This record gives sequence, C-alpha cells and structure tokens, in this order.
Amino acid sequence: MKFNTKVIHGNQSHEKVTGSVNVPVFLTSTFAQKSPGEHSGYEYSRAANPTRQALEDALASIENGARGLAFGSGLAAIDCVLKLLNPGDEIIAVDDLYGGSYRMFTRLFEKYQLKFHFVNLENPENILPLINEKTKLVWLETPTNPLMKLVDIQKVAELIKGKDILLAVDNTFATPYIQTPLDLGADIVMHSATKYLGGHSDVIAGALIAKTPELGEKLHFIQFASGGILGPHDSYLVLRGIKTLALRVQRHSENGQKIAEYLQNHPKVDKVFYPNLASNPQLELAKKQMKTFGGMISFTFKSGKKEDSIQFLEKLKVFTLAESLGGVESLANHPALMTHASIPAEKRAELGITDDLVRLSCGIEDVEDLIADIEQAFN
Ligand SMILES: *Cc1c(COP(=O)(O)O)cnc(C)c1O
Repeated sequence: MKFNTKVIHGNQSHEKVTGSVNVPVFLTSTFAQKSPGEHSGYEYSRAANPTRQALEDALASIENGARGLAFGSGLAAIDCVLKLLNPGDEIIAVDDLYGGSYRMFTRLFEKYQLKFHFVNLENPENILPLINEKTKLVWLETPTNPLMKLVDIQKVAELIKGKDILLAVDNTFATPYIQTPLDLGADIVMHSATKYLGGHSDVIAGALIAKTPELGEKLHFIQFASGGILGPHDSYLVLRGIKTLALRVQRHSENGQKIAEYLQNHPKVDKVFYPNLASNPQLELAKKQMKTFGGMISFTFKSGKKEDSIQFLEKLKVFTLAESLGGVESLANHPALMTHASIPAEKRAELGITDDLVRLSCGIEDVEDLIADIEQAFN
C-alpha cells in the first residue's frame, strides 16, 4: 500500500458489529468478562482500548513499524523510551533539541544517573568519540528545532550497527510523509502527535512506533505500568487527523518553500533556515533523505535586533503568535523567549538560537495571504 492509501486504510478496518466506517469512541474504562480471565481481548483501558488501538495500528502502518503506541503527550512518549534504560547508561542526543526534551533529559533523568551527551551531528562521525560500552541510546531530531539542521539517519544507524545501542528519532517535524526513519535503520520513531499528525491544534498527544514486535512489547509494558496513555476522544482526533496527513503536508511544503524563498530575497532578512534552499550546506542530504521539505522555517534579521523580531511578531495578523506547530493554521514563535526559554542563555548562544530568531510554522492557507501578512509585518 502506498502512503496516501495507508493514511486512510492502513491497518484499519470497519467496526465489526455495525460496520461503522469510523472507529467508535469507546468511552469505557473496563470490559465485561464472561468468566474470570475470559475476555474479548480488552480488560482495562490503560492496557488497551479499541479506539486507541485503531490509532496505534494506523501509526504502525504509516511509519512502517511493527507496533504503535499512543500517549497523553509527546513528552510522555519520550519518558517511556527513557524508562527502557538503567542507571549508569549513557545517551547521545543531537544538540539542537526540542526544549522540552532537553529539560526532561537534564532535569528529570540525570538525577536517576542517566548520562546525556549533546552533540552536533551534522557530521554523523561526531558520535564516534562519545560511544562506549555504557552507551545505550542515540536520540535524533531531523530537521532539528528550531535551526533546521539535518542528521543523516542512515549514516548514524550504520555507525552504531552491531552495538547494543538503540536509535530513536523524533519525527515530529518531518512526519512519515517526508521520511520514515525505521526504513533508514532506526529502532524507534517518536512523535508529538500534537503537531502534524493531529494537525488541527486541538489535542495534546504523543506516539511511539517500534521497528520490532519485541521492542514494541517492552515499550507497551512501560506504558501500561506507568500509565501515560492517550484517552479515547483524543485518540479519535489524532486518527482523524492522520487521514489528511498526506494532503496537508503537501500543502505545508508548497507554502514553506515559497515563503522560504520570499524571505531569502527580503532585504530585512539575514539567514533563512529551510532544508531546500541553495544556501543550505546540507542541501544534498535534504534531497536524499526527505521527500518534501515541510512547513517549518526559521530566520534572523539583518539588524540582529531582538526588538525587530518582537515587533515583527506583534504585527502579524494571519500568522498567530503562539507556541506549537504543525496545525492547519500558520503560527509564529520566538524560540529564545517562548519554546526554547528552558534552554540556558549560554547554551542557546552556542547553538545559534539568537535573540532575533523567528520560527514560522506555515499552515495550509493561500500562500499569497501568508506572504502579504509577513510583508506588512516587516513594514
Ligand atoms: C512539541 C514537541 C515535542 C513535545 O510534544 P508534546 O506533545 O508537546 O508533549 C517533542 N518534540 C518536538 C520536536 C516537538 O515539536
């Protein structure tokens, strides 16, 4: 099955009793048993719920994995992956990381004696000096947030092949329409389904997809034992979002490309961070790894002034100034003051998250209206 068909039919079937085309929202915590231990396959909704199950099956289908799991947030999904590890284990993570992931790693899990190394992986070989017998997990984002740096997933997978190290990829920015990390050698894919999978800014949700049934079972045990599941209503919303994922990401990418090119030619703009621009030193990797290039763009001002970026953001009308991304509506964000405020200022400076950096999540509106909005905000 190809991707446009999978988002609608992948691992999904009509409801068995009535033939309902959509999976019902099973608002139940528990399931009747005929005799003690004799049940329909469902016992208690923390372990499994049919609506969540339908979403989890769809997730596995679109990411080409063996098992999907749906969580109450993206961070709950990451928390589940980290609980595979033991005190003393080491993790290598890409340095330009989602702020909340960085916060969880350093402020919650370091105290349980997990050791995190953060490294720029534009050159994947930077991973090699950090690997030792304690290394158990490599955590990637590509494109990274907010600087749109790319990591060659296949190269990283090759470098750790044969070692007892899991490779996990946060695929929130790209979505499986653009890239499927499990096909490139990753073991686990993670999503903030709050973003493109849900797609309508109406739900907080997370997902994991495991390459093998064995790893899926381990993750499911942790999910079941620590309880960070997604409720049935929210599961339905994400499942509904996924059905239009392919169409939406096509439009996000068209709009993203046009806006990135517009920004690049604007006299007030200094750097534009978008994968498919001639100025991107990683253009070749972008073309190899990504099918289209999505709706996420960051840029800085020629003036380098924080006040200019703030004024620009205040003046936008069609773009909404808000955290988050990946919805049908366009959003704009100031990473240093909003999404990445939890990263210490020195660390931000080191990474290049300057105080004049603006991040755009281009929605699926008419691109002329989006560009006109940006133009009037500059003026
Ligand atoms: C939003 C986001 C997360 C966290 O997900 P929540 O659903 O907000 O918990 C993780 N990674 C990336 C790349 C994100 O954008």
